[in-house]
Amino acid sequence: MKIIFATGNKGKLREAREILGPDYELLSSADAGVIEDIPETGSSFQENSLQKAEYIWKKCGVDCFSDDSGLEVDALGGAPGIYSARYGSMDAAEGSGSHDFDRNIDKLLHELTVLDTKALLEGKPAPARTARFRCVVTLMLDGEPHFFDGTCEGTIAYERKGNGGFGYDPVFITDDFPGLSMSEISEEQKNSISHRAQALNKMAEWLKNR
Ligand code: IMP
Repeated sequence: MKIIFATGNKGKLREAREILGPDYELLSSADAGVIEDIPETGSSFQENSLQKAEYIWKKCGVDCFSDDSGLEVDALGGAPGIYSARYGSMDAAEGSGSHDFDRNIDKLLHELTVLDTKALLEGKPAPARTARFRCVVTLMLDGEPHFFDGTCEGTIAYERKGNGGFGYDPVFITDDFPGLSMSEISEEQKNSISHRAQALNKMAEWLKNR
């Protein structure tokens, strides 16, 4: 099946190709001639995911799927959440700086250090660093949306570890591979447990049984 994956994120595209395998030929948004940033103004992963798939459907008139995903950190009240891609530059005067992964991680570690220091000064235990990746995939078939989701639990490390993956992977310690960051496990291992793999496998299963 040849289908457009509404993303410009090379990490997402590489993982989706691996997860879905040879039965699928994935074209990126750019392959379909969509080079502009697709607007994401929703208030949930599902709304943003739908927005991206609808954008491609309206512009290109072909079946497609999208992925909206992000990291939720409990001690930060669920932040960065839907703002994960631009978390590090949300307050910056120079603009969105979307997908500046290094800056996003710097801000995340800083915010958690601030909480730890406050707790220390108040004589309280440091807050838990529990977190999760979430992903909502929208499959747009004949203009009808179908949703598939996935969640991957873990904790936030104190510093970056490993070279693989993308985004927050260097500081996300998965519950499935204790002690290892998402950047330290192989791509195959990440694709056996990730939020994206869960959602895309549900989509593939649904398509198979349709
Ligand atoms: P969006 O779905 O384009 O809004 O961007 C999602 C953002 O969440 C990415 O830019 C990453 O910062 C983060 N993210 C989503 N999935 C992953 C993942 O598998 N590993 C690390 N970071 C991720």
